[in-house]
Amino acid sequence: MNKIGRWYFGIAFLACVTLSAIAATDTPPSSKPVLNVPAAAQPGPNFDVKTATDAWLATVPADKKAKSDAYFEGGYWLQLWDFLLSAVVLIWFLQSRLSARLRDWAERVTTRKNLQTLLYFIPFLLITSALQFPLVVYEGFFREHKYGLANQTFWPWFGEQMIGLAISAILGGIAIVGLFALVRRLGKKWWIWGAVASIVFQALVVLIYPVLIAPRFNTYKPLANASIKNSILSMAHANGIPVNDVYEVDASRQTNRVSANVSGFLGSERITLNDNLLNRCTPEEIQAVMGHEMGHYVMNHLGKTLLFLGVFFSIAFAFLNYGLQWALARWGEKWGVRSITDVAVLPLAVLILSVFGFLTTPVTNSWTRAQEYEADIFGLNASRQPDGEAAVDLKLGDYRKLDPGPIEEIVFFDHPSGRTRITAAMRWKKENQTSVVSPTQ
Ligand SMILES: [Zn+2]
Repeated sequence: MNKIGRWYFGIAFLACVTLSAIAATDTPPSSKPVLNVPAAAQPGPNFDVKTATDAWLATVPADKKAKSDAYFEGGYWLQLWDFLLSAVVLIWFLQSRLSARLRDWAERVTTRKNLQTLLYFIPFLLITSALQFPLVVYEGFFREHKYGLANQTFWPWFGEQMIGLAISAILGGIAIVGLFALVRRLGKKWWIWGAVASIVFQALVVLIYPVLIAPRFNTYKPLANASIKNSILSMAHANGIPVNDVYEVDASRQTNRVSANVSGFLGSERITLNDNLLNRCTPEEIQAVMGHEMGHYVMNHLGKTLLFLGVFFSIAFAFLNYGLQWALARWGEKWGVRSITDVAVLPLAVLILSVFGFLTTPVTNSWTRAQEYEADIFGLNASRQPDGEAAVDLKLGDYRKLDPGPIEEIVFFDHPSGRTRITAAMRWKKENQTSVVSPTQ
């Protein structure tokens, strides 16, 4: 998916958990996996949190761990290459005066300002997406297959990229036309209202996502397995969550990753489990995951994230305003960009925002990681499944490094690492030994 699409969808998914596993597709119910608790993590008078955590981590074979470390650490560099490639493309767009020529063309076609903005935006989106496409193909297709995480062949994958691009064109078009109208109307104070408008737009995208966007990529249907559904609804009702149905999504079309989420708000809330989770995980693991998801809902993480983004967007737009003035004073004439009200300034605006986004990655990662940790703690208390939690945390190990250094975790992790999560689960287990009957081999 292109940059603008990622910006919106990335935030819409802030309140989601994404776990990963190699799915055993079409696993019949009779061969459902069994939860095996390592000997050193069995309850007892000498139960030790670190020993138990180490024992869980030691169940992952060394070659599998090396592979997931390589996948995740490669992702650090990809973040840098993504940023640098988009910066080169955007600077070229300005430097070659393609941006100015595109604006001149839009002005010749129509005198209506909003339409000029749209006529500029669509080719801009298509050209920049095309130039970044080789890296997108490597990152989103070839690399995912190389690490055994993807299920799709090339053309269905490509088709979904095109749907994503079309959605970006529609949502991005609305956002960009609206923002430039604000800039023209409000002058110097535009950035304050730009931040407000962005947060409202963001909330709208979160609202429509489960209803209008997600079904374009996958099929959602009510969960058929009555015993899993009833245990989830019971946990939901015990925690005051007003849902009466649980959905299942055919995520295995695209990926092997296990995931679940609670999405939407203002009546569009729904709990969704993906089919990889249902096929691959034990009931204890599913309950641990659902307890975590309910934590996001009960602790209103979506609302808090929108407030956080209100602050974040305000700072980002102030940075953008300052950066635009600074850069236009130096290079505006050379690029043929007249002012901040000129739509030809768009590549510069996207560049400045991506610099801001890149530099603040540890901040946004830490915001989501802190919420994910809270949801873990809530999930342990709600599901009372510390071993299920530990087992599913290891399944993350397919694509997220299990045991990073502390600084590495702060900078790069948007969810806690496997070690952090299993430590929390084993700490909970130690203090609740009398009330938890641990499954045995
Ligand atoms: Zn989560």
